[in-house]
Amino acid sequence: MEHLAEKMLVSYINLEIDARQQELIEDHLGYCEHCLEAYLNLMDAHSYDLNVSDHFVDNTLKEIDIKHAFHMKENQNSYQQQAKRTMTHYMLAAGLTIVLMMTGAFQSFINITDLSDMEHKPSITDQLMKQTNNIMDYIKGDNSQ
Ligand SMILES: [Zn+2]
Repeated sequence: MEHLAEKMLVSYINLEIDARQQELIEDHLGYCEHCLEAYLNLMDAHSYDLNVSDHFVDNTLKEIDIKHAFHMKENQNSYQQQAKRTMTHYMLAAGLTIVLMMTGAFQSFINITDLSDMEHKPSITDQLMKQTNNIMDYIKGDNSQ
């Protein structure tokens, strides 16, 4: 399979694609390091354009690295599928978190009065990820639960 076009990744980050494309991209990012890196770089660059605080982005990306590294140290075979899913979720969550923060939708989903608290409470980041996952499921119209 060919690598994802930068244009497509940008559309993905901007949530400008349909569910089917989104699925294809998520699937690809799950196993392709090349595109995953491109995606992260784009997300990083993109967030700078939108004037997201560098600190927040750094924390989010660090969280991804930690989760990623953790899963890679596990049994590669039996955890591969799970790691792929988790990673994809975190990628999405990180991207969406930034988007939601931009739009201010954030505040309506969770009660965070001071984002600088995140520095001292890493668990809040997890909370954010979970919340974002819920929102993501909602957006995707996942009625399986
Ligand atoms: Zn690729």
